Amino acid sequence: MIPIEEARTYVMDRCRPQPAVGTDVADALGLVTSADVIANESLPPFANTAMDGFAVRSADLDTVPVRLEVIETIAAGHNPTREVGLGQASRIMTGAPIPDGADAIVMVEKTSVDGDVVTIEAQVEPGNHIRPAGDDVKEGDLVFPAGTRLSAGHLGVLCSLGFQKIDTFPRLRVGVISTGDELVDDGGVLEPGQIRDSNRRTLLSLLSEDAFLPVDLGLVADNELAIEEALSQGAQDCDAVITSGGVSMGDFDYVKAVLDRIGDMRWMQIAIKPAKPLAFGTIGGTPIFGLPGNPVSSMVSYELFARAGLRSMMGFREPIRPIIKGVAAKSMRRRADGKIHYVRVIAEQENGTTVVYPVSGQGSHMLASMARSNSLAVLPDGEGCEAGEQVDVLLLD
Ligand code: AMP
Ligand code: MG
Repeated sequence: MIPIEEARTYVMDRCRPQPAVGTDVADALGLVTSADVIANESLPPFANTAMDGFAVRSADLDTVPVRLEVIETIAAGHNPTREVGLGQASRIMTGAPIPDGADAIVMVEKTSVDGDVVTIEAQVEPGNHIRPAGDDVKEGDLVFPAGTRLSAGHLGVLCSLGFQKIDTFPRLRVGVISTGDELVDDGGVLEPGQIRDSNRRTLLSLLSEDAFLPVDLGLVADNELAIEEALSQGAQDCDAVITSGGVSMGDFDYVKAVLDRIGDMRWMQIAIKPAKPLAFGTIGGTPIFGLPGNPVSSMVSYELFARAGLRSMMGFREPIRPIIKGVAAKSMRRRADGKIHYVRVIAEQENGTTVVYPVSGQGSHMLASMARSNSLAVLPDGEGCEAGEQVDVLLLD
């Protein structure tokens, strides 16, 4: 068995960032910028009002109440046509440009209108409720540095600044293959010995959650030729391929054999539980992750190795999820076996502390308990921990 760090280093060394591309902002959610983003425009682009009200000369309000002549109404999206002179005001709507002459806005709530005359009840400082041009971002500003992961808010800023395209690392196309003679996916009645394929849906969904582009490459039987064809085709069509099953010690575990023959593969026995076996290799430079078949093992192996490697390929500066400190709500006993154990837990925030509750059903085939949990407690080799002790936690969502 090798330590997890050695396995991960081996994987990460072969998962290099892809060359950057220009990406439509509309398609950039979850991607990582490959260059600094510099503003070509200011935001807001012009001084405008933060309130519905009246644009005034603040000096006119030295004594209040005061009556001012209303000279026009300025709606958002329309330019003022008149300068506000002494004793005058323009009615103005939120977002509309500030007219010449005016230096402050009085909110509508502090006014009353009678025909063409507005009575202002309150004094205001110059600049009151005015949002100056460039208040948020100034032309020439560094908006986001290279290496920024683009969230909904980032995309909104890019749109505000008029960007249509942005330099990013490309979204990775990741193929997913399930292997196993026992697997079916047609929703029909199970024949003896059959089970339903769950790994493919789980892995495709994890890929979506992590902003990769999942590609369903289907189910493949335990047949060396079929696996070879599926892997070579997948390596050609995708930036990376994930398989599940066929990497253990069984007689029909062909993924490992095929990868060894047609790829540059390392089969690893990693000192972790679950997810001990991993076949990782490249075919023509395309990384192939041969994850174990047990449903929880494949998810944990995805989290620890595939996700980290794929995020690294997609330009993430911190591809590995951080481990945080929590407190065990109950004891989590284990035996020393040379492995790190990843225990399914529900992590909750209680008075600023992350408290973890182990869930029942920790077998690597027990996917329901994985679905019910939101985190993995990381137990180093040894006897486990008692209730109230500190424990390392990997928050999965
Ligand atoms: P393997 O790694 O191929 O030896 O499979 C280990 C266990 O995981 C076996 O019980 C398989 O039936 C099960 N398994 C493999 N692939 C899948 C899958 N795609 N969905 C659900 N169970 C699977
Ligand atoms: Mg199998």
